Amino acid sequence: MKEERYDVVVVGAGPAGSVTAKTAAERGLDVLLIERNQEIGVPVKCAEGVSKEIEKFVAPDRRWICAEVKGANIYGPDGTKVVLSAETMDETGYVLERRIFDKFLASEAARAGAKIRVRTEAYDLIEEDGYAKGVYVRCMGEDTRIFAPVVVGADGVESKVGRWAGINTRLQPSNISVCAEFLMCDIELNGDYSEFFLGSEVAPKGYAWVFPKGGDCANVGLGIGGDVSDEKHRALDYLKAFVRNKFPDGKTVAEMYGVVPLSGPSYESVADGLILVGDAARQVNPLTGGGILYAMQAGKIAGDVIAKAVQEKDCSKKRLLEYENRWRSEFGKRLETGFKAKEFLFKLSDEDLNTLAHSLVGVKIKELSTWALLMELVKRNPKMLLGLAKMLL
Ligand SMILES: Cc1cc2nc3c(=O)[nH]c(=O)nc-3n(C[C@H](O)[C@H](O)[C@H](O)COP(=O)(O)OP(=O)(O)OC[C@H]3O[C@@H](n4cnc5c(N)ncnc54)[C@H](O)[C@@H]3O)c2cc1C
Repeated sequence: MKEERYDVVVVGAGPAGSVTAKTAAERGLDVLLIERNQEIGVPVKCAEGVSKEIEKFVAPDRRWICAEVKGANIYGPDGTKVVLSAETMDETGYVLERRIFDKFLASEAARAGAKIRVRTEAYDLIEEDGYAKGVYVRCMGEDTRIFAPVVVGADGVESKVGRWAGINTRLQPSNISVCAEFLMCDIELNGDYSEFFLGSEVAPKGYAWVFPKGGDCANVGLGIGGDVSDEKHRALDYLKAFVRNKFPDGKTVAEMYGVVPLSGPSYESVADGLILVGDAARQVNPLTGGGILYAMQAGKIAGDVIAKAVQEKDCSKKRLLEYENRWRSEFGKRLETGFKAKEFLFKLSDEDLNTLAHSLVGVKIKELSTWALLMELVKRNPKMLLGLAKMLL
C-alpha cells in the first residue's frame, strides 16, 4: 500500500475542516485536507443562514452571499407574527451560497499551503499504542496509508473518525433533527427577512424556515424531532404540506435531506493524536440547528493548538485538551443554554407556544440572538417559563 506523511491530516472539507487546515497551514504545518465527494460544497445540506458574526472569521464576499436579511419573523402555531429586529439595525444576517462558500474556504486553505484531495475517503484509523497516527484512505479504488501525528475528524454529523478512536458519538433520536428542504423559485416572499414557523402541525419538535436566496427564490425547509419521525411522519411529508399551504404555485428546483445533531457537546472532542471539529464534535446550537459559525470558530482554535502541539512534538490528549478548553470557554455555554432551552421548549403545547408568541407582539428585540429572545420570553412569561429561567440563570 502507498504511504504518505504529513503533520496533520484533516478528514472532511466542510467549514470546520477547511478552517482547521488553513489555520494549521498558516502556522507552518504540512497539511493534507481530504474530501470524499468529488466537489467540495456539493451536495448542499443546509439552509445557509448565518448571522453577521461570520465577519469575525472571513470578509464577506458577494460571490458566496445570496441575500442579506434585516431580521427574522417568527410565526406561532396560530399565525401570530413576532418580529426580531429593530428599525435602527443594519442587516443582521446573510444567506450563503454554500456550494461556493465551502469551495472558497477550501481554496483559502490551499492558498495557505494545505494540499487538498477530493474523491478521497478515509475508511479507518491508523493506531499505535493507543494514539491515532493517521488514516487509511481510498481514492478511485487505490488505497493509501496517510501518516500524521494529528488526525482531525471534521467529517460532519455522521462522523466516523471519533468512533474509530473509541469515542461514543452515538446520538439519541430525540437529539437529532430530521430535515427536508426545497430550493424554490417563483414564490412571493419578503426578501429582507428570514422566516420561522412553529407548531406541531407544521414541524413537531422543530420548525419550518423560509430563507431568502435573492429575487423570488428561497430555501424552504423544515426539521422535525428524530423521535417523532417515522414512515408515517416523514419530514418530507410535512414539508410538502407546508409548501402546498404557503407556496402552492412555487417551483421546486432542488431537494435536500439531512440531519442536524442537537445533543450539544456531550463527549470530549480530543483523544491521543486526534481532534474532532464542527458537527463531528456536535458544535451546533441545539435550539436553532445553526453550526456553520461554530465550525469555523472551532476550526481556528483547532489549527492553532495543533500547530503548537506538532511543533512541541507532544500530540497527547493532555496537550490537545487546550483545544477543548478554549472552544468550551468561547462558546460551550451557548451550546449548553441552547440544549436546555430546546429540552424545555420542545415539550410545550401549541397553546403554550401561542401564548409566548402573543407576549412578544409589538416588542422590539434589538439583538438577533437566541439568548436575547429567551430572556425577553422569560421576562414576559415568568410563570410559564419558571422552569426554563431556573435552568438558564
Ligand atoms: C437541513 C440543514 C439545514 C441547516 N441549516 C443551517 C443554517 O441555516 N445555518 C447554520 O449555521 N447551520 C445550518 N446547518 C448546520 C450546518 O450545515 C453544519 O453545522 C455545518 O455544515 C458543519 O460543518 P462541518 O464542516 O462540521 O461539517 P460538514 O459541512 O457536514 O462537512 C463534513 C464534510 O466531511 C466529508 N466527509 C465525511 N466523511 C468523510 C470521510 N470518511 N472521508 C472524507 N470526507 C468525509 C463530507 O462529505 C463533508 O463534505 C444545517 C444543517 C442541515 C442538515
